[in-house]
Amino acid sequence: MNKGKNSNGAGVSTEDCIFCKIIDKKIPAEIVYENDTILAFLDINPVNEGHTLIIPKDHYPQMTDVPSETLGEIFGYAKEMMSKIKEAVNADFVALTVVGTDVSHFHIHLVPRMNNDGLAGFWPTKKYESDEKKKEVGEKIRRQLEKKG
Ligand code: 5GP
Ligand code: ZN
Repeated sequence: MNKGKNSNGAGVSTEDCIFCKIIDKKIPAEIVYENDTILAFLDINPVNEGHTLIIPKDHYPQMTDVPSETLGEIFGYAKEMMSKIKEAVNADFVALTVVGTDVSHFHIHLVPRMNNDGLAGFWPTKKYESDEKKKEVGEKIRRQLEKKG
């Protein structure tokens, strides 16, 4: 299903993509779900047990490269999977994140979380330096959203 030997435009050949190799069954993975367009498998280095990745079977480096229909399928399935993973591993809740700093084949993380797993506040946060600054940033984003394309 992936795009074979083509370069993905981000300097990584799909031949060298670890997730394309998993799709092609060239390297093993603990697959939990598969259909024609998406694949879900356990992360090899889980944050907590049951940490699952969902990927499109075609190689797209980033979320902005993935067709909306495929994204809809990935997130739609993620919604179903979250409650199933929660039951399967007795988690308090399941977090969904998109990180993408390591593997440039688009994927989402479903991370089972416990209220006492020590990961609360894992993301360092900061304050806006002023309300004006916050308004300015909001305005910049609203302006971009008004642009076509
Ligand atoms: P990210 O690109 O979102 O920062 O992280 C990529 C994720 O893929 C990491 O959590 C990493 O543990 C996982 N990963 C990297 N290589 C493999 C692999 O060969 N098999 C599996 N199952 N997961 C992998
Ligand atoms: Zn790939």
